[in-house]
Amino acid sequence: MTHSAIASKRIAIIGAGPGGLTLALLLQRHGFNPVVYEREVQDTNRDRGGSLDIHEESGQLALKEAGLFEKFQELARYEGEDFRLFDKHKNVYMDEEAVEDDHGTRPEIDRGDLCQLLLDSLDKGCIRYGHKLQQAIALDHGMTELHFENGVVDTVDLLVGADGAFSRVRPLLSDLQPEYSGLTMVELNVLDVKNNHPDLLELNSRGKMFALGDRKGILGQLNGDGRIKVYASFEVEREWLDTCGIDFDQPTEAKNKLLELFSDWDDDLKNYIRYADGAIQPRRIYMLPVGYRWKHNPGVTLIGDSAHVMSPFAGVGVNLAMLDAYTLALAIARHQDSGSAIEEYEREMYRYSSDMAQESYDNLVLCFSDDAAAKMATLMKQLHDQTQHDV
Ligand SMILES: Cc1cc2nc3c(=O)[nH]c(=O)nc-3n(C[C@H](O)[C@H](O)[C@H](O)COP(=O)(O)OP(=O)(O)OC[C@H]3O[C@@H](n4cnc5c(N)ncnc54)[C@H](O)[C@@H]3O)c2cc1C
Repeated sequence: MTHSAIASKRIAIIGAGPGGLTLALLLQRHGFNPVVYEREVQDTNRDRGGSLDIHEESGQLALKEAGLFEKFQELARYEGEDFRLFDKHKNVYMDEEAVEDDHGTRPEIDRGDLCQLLLDSLDKGCIRYGHKLQQAIALDHGMTELHFENGVVDTVDLLVGADGAFSRVRPLLSDLQPEYSGLTMVELNVLDVKNNHPDLLELNSRGKMFALGDRKGILGQLNGDGRIKVYASFEVEREWLDTCGIDFDQPTEAKNKLLELFSDWDDDLKNYIRYADGAIQPRRIYMLPVGYRWKHNPGVTLIGDSAHVMSPFAGVGVNLAMLDAYTLALAIARHQDSGSAIEEYEREMYRYSSDMAQESYDNLVLCFSDDAAAKMATLMKQLHDQTQHDV
């Protein structure tokens, strides 16, 4: 139980993604009583993205603090650390296989399972679904007034934006908006690969597959529910989705047009697109500038993508959101006033997140450069040698 003066204050978290849920749970564990406002009418984390590798030094740290690490281990897929890297002709540049029973440091879990784990431990009443924040207004005495699309208004002492890339909390702290990263990813799903397409499972292995070339990529990722989530990825201008002439609401036609864009790629790699089932979801990838900071406000802060959205090429977005939640929750529990807690959290968060944002940006540039597969293999080997040397 906390003796902090913050305990008597009203704390609101905007967004029930992995960052907001982790923060709410850790604050509850320390005796606080936060309210979480989420725009969706129910939990939709299962529908938003696939398998995530949870790192020892960040996501796992938060799960241990929440007392959920053992349950996480029961759900985690350690074999999901397999990784294959090809060029567009299916020449192999890397083929890493996770060793059975050798519990690695970055096991995989589906986003839905991870969020369900957090939800199951949360005091249910704390989440208000169907509350989309429209505007947050700073009041004279340091509190913040929250206006929701459904007409609800709330006034809070401490406000945490965990509402993703296009945060409605961020305008209280800075005028900056995320910029298009130059990358557009088209998400497809090949369902039940084990039974429907064993040849693709054989090619993909039990984890991730990257095929890179011509400033494009086909990325595959085996999920816990038996599907391979596929990202056909393109370095293109922001308007490309409007000008490419592909109607993504017509999956069969869209797949044929996507296949034309990979016409001179190896035929087996093209099966990632050819075999895809159901809806297709195109996404522009946005990022905040590396080293992004805002003017400190003692009653408002940001965690996760709202604080440092970056391309997925460092594979750390969820991990950072959970590490932010961990760092902020512990700072709130340690300090008597929210200003000092936020200051300590932001100092620490700026340090680790800017390193990751730089790595993510460098990897993005590398993955969509000439001879990307060869360059990526060299980089991964250097990192591997470095780790061995450090040990
Ligand atoms: C294609 C792709 C692949 C990725 N792969 C990986 C990966 O392999 N590993 C990894 O670690 N990361 C990955 N990421 C990044 C990861 O998904 C994000 O970094 C992570 O989800 C951030 O969590 P969050 O809780 O900060 O925000 P989010 O997950 O974006 O959650 C924000 C929540 O806020 C809610 N919300 C938004 N606006 C409002 C509002 N106005 N009012 C109320 N609620 C609101 C949303 O509905 C949502 O529930 C990937 C991202 C993409 C796009």
